Amino acid sequence: MTTKLRAPAKPLEAASPFEMRLNQSGGLSESFVRRSVETGDVGFLHSFTTGSAVDGPGVRLVAWTAGCQWRCRYCHNPDAWFMANGRAVALARAVDELRKYRRGLKVMSGGLTISGGEPLLQDRFVVKLAAAAKAMGIHTAIETNGYRSERLTNADLAQIDLVLLGIKTWGEERHRRLTGKGIGRTLDFARRLAALRLPIWVRFVLVPGLTDEPEIASGIATFAKGLGNVERVEVLPFHQMGRYKWERLGLNYSLHDTPPPSPELVESTCRIFRDAGLKAV
Ligand code: SF4
Repeated sequence: MTTKLRAPAKPLEAASPFEMRLNQSGGLSESFVRRSVETGDVGFLHSFTTGSAVDGPGVRLVAWTAGCQWRCRYCHNPDAWFMANGRAVALARAVDELRKYRRGLKVMSGGLTISGGEPLLQDRFVVKLAAAAKAMGIHTAIETNGYRSERLTNADLAQIDLVLLGIKTWGEERHRRLTGKGIGRTLDFARRLAALRLPIWVRFVLVPGLTDEPEIASGIATFAKGLGNVERVEVLPFHQMGRYKWERLGLNYSLHDTPPPSPELVESTCRIFRDAGLKAV
């Protein structure tokens, strides 16, 4: 690939994934983007963040990929929906970034988490970056909705130590209303990971009035418990930190008046998962 990647104004490392980032790829050609996605030699990243204690075990370096085909009503990173908003980063550059933190990540029992957006839109880049991390002895995790997981072979999955799997709600119709897509592929991926004995942490965003019906948590709980490889369920309280992005992007945000869940609601939801025999935090 001969296209020269220009240096964008913002540094690759962001203070937080809540930072708004637009048009970082600077008008790269369609054919370049397509080739990059096919080979995985260049990734499109919103940013890197360091020091995360909430994106997998220990302290994590997180690569936030750009691009997502879902449209979750509560998404706090709508600027990461479009690959063009990501910065084109050569794989070698991303590996260099990883190498800088290698020792610290090991000392802090952490690792690399590749999140998004939806990382499996860039499955070759994700697998190559994860393989480079594994070769350095770094623990690897991906956070995904599982929708494009059929692109990963079992050999690809061997480069990944943990899957943070977003299960957004329960029931096909509810799922389509919330995300714009069906739930089937996410559940199929979970079953496949179970067959491979690859650990899952389920991530469930608790939104008052949207995902707080007890039958939603109990449906997910029964399914997750039946898999046998779910190590924990993370109940993530909804917040409004992404609202300004919806407004600035001129998107139709439907949760203006939705408050975060009360501590009691978070606790009663965690209890549903615990009662099913799962660890819930
Ligand atoms: S899957 Fe994640 S990144 Fe994609 S729309 Fe939903 S919350 Fe946003």
